[in-house]
Amino acid sequence: MTVIDLMPYEDALTAYDPVMGLEVHVELGTATKMFCGCSTSLGAEPNSQVCPTCLGMPGSLPVVNATAVESAIKIGLALNCEIAEWCRFARKNYFYPDMPKNFQTSQYDEPIAYDGYLDVEVDGETFRVEIERAHMEEDTGKSTHVGGATGRIHGAVHSLLDYNRAGIPLIEIVTKPIVGAGERAPQVAKAYVAELRELIKALGVSEARMEMGQMRCDVNLSLRPHGQEKFGTRSETKNVNSLRSVERAARFEIQRHAAVLSSGGTVVQETRHFHEDDGSTTSGRIKEEAEDYRYFPEPDLVPVAPSREWVEELRAGLPELPRVRRMRLQADWGLSDHEMQSVLNAGAIDLIVATIDAGAPADQARKWWMGELARRANEDGTDIAALPITPAQVARVAALVSDGSLNDKLARQVIEGVLAGEGEPDEVVDKRGLKVVSDEGALGAAVDEAIAANAGIAEKVRSGKVAAAGALVGAVMKATRGQADAARVRELILERLGVQG
Ligand SMILES: [Zn+2]
Repeated sequence: MTVIDLMPYEDALTAYDPVMGLEVHVELGTATKMFCGCSTSLGAEPNSQVCPTCLGMPGSLPVVNATAVESAIKIGLALNCEIAEWCRFARKNYFYPDMPKNFQTSQYDEPIAYDGYLDVEVDGETFRVEIERAHMEEDTGKSTHVGGATGRIHGAVHSLLDYNRAGIPLIEIVTKPIVGAGERAPQVAKAYVAELRELIKALGVSEARMEMGQMRCDVNLSLRPHGQEKFGTRSETKNVNSLRSVERAARFEIQRHAAVLSSGGTVVQETRHFHEDDGSTTSGRIKEEAEDYRYFPEPDLVPVAPSREWVEELRAGLPELPRVRRMRLQADWGLSDHEMQSVLNAGAIDLIVATIDAGAPADQARKWWMGELARRANEDGTDIAALPITPAQVARVAALVSDGSLNDKLARQVIEGVLAGEGEPDEVVDKRGLKVVSDEGALGAAVDEAIAANAGIAEKVRSGKVAAAGALVGAVMKATRGQADAARVRELILERLGVQG
């Protein structure tokens, strides 16, 4: 294993200015492939969702998937892009076993969308990422290399190919060079991919699950000395598939480039692999010159010429975009930037909205998700959305608290029961016997018992040491197994002892 020299991050930024370019591939969630009617559903038997077209058999003819074009236009519009009045597909020619046609049908100099931007927030400040283009293409098949230690082709005994993914519609979104981010470049990269993912999900064009490979990012990075206009030589870290990894890959490459440059070396233009385990990158394919893919217009497909009426119809139908929605919810809920950031970091925003939709007041919905449930997700090391409790169930717990059936302590036990699979909140209340003792007679009896059993304390309270009443409240709460309303208990005790609260 070669040891890669890294310069401390702060030192690297003192000497150099990072320039990034991000290329994000998104698999569209269409029912069928880009140029044929094969299903795109996941998890099928290998090579069961293929046909002569996506296998590139001679004589087969592709047909463009209209829904994929519609999705591409929606993405372009949401990214503030111009939408081409006329564009074509092109063949990108190269050989690789996972691509049965020996060319990828893509778009070359005529993308469907171009010249846009996406605003992202970093540390409460807005950073504008300019978009160069968004174009349509198709995915390749999937190779599985068997027998090697790392799952890569190196050291493998043989490889398996599954063409079910070959031909699934992809949108590739390419930024213009991102300059001026300075030391925040890795955060900007992460924030951009996060914002893009939210946007894609809001548009409903893909689930954009990075862990499933439905969205992946290539991180291009170069450094230049401060004050120099010309960009340095870039590396391209391929297929980074989590938000955290995007940030780590950019950070690692900044430190690596800086070490190479400061020691008088030359950065090699190459693709690199990112390693999740230690956050490093290693050399992949060296690209000394731009590869010549011999692009030419795809002769088997007619050009795509979306009418302006259709484009305007799609623009008018766009949903509220994530950034606008977040600002609206923050204002509606009356949260500070910091509080809103916590909600976002916890991944709880949609859960809170759904809980409010199910009838809970906003502050209650936020309190349960950000308190008890965020803590639980954290303890279990799971995604908060994956907890076995629904927004409707949380709303029901909140309703039981607000009608006085539960206090917070009991509500926590109800939530615990729901999480443990004991049923709906009301069932947990019944099974565990968790109801606030609101029967005044029973409560009064418990209060009398507590006073009788703690005569000394009762005497102190009577003589004006009201603070001592806390011990009596505690005794009643203990006797009722926490199922009494503590404020009401206190009132009753003071009433019995003839003192004013
Ligand atoms: Zn097919």
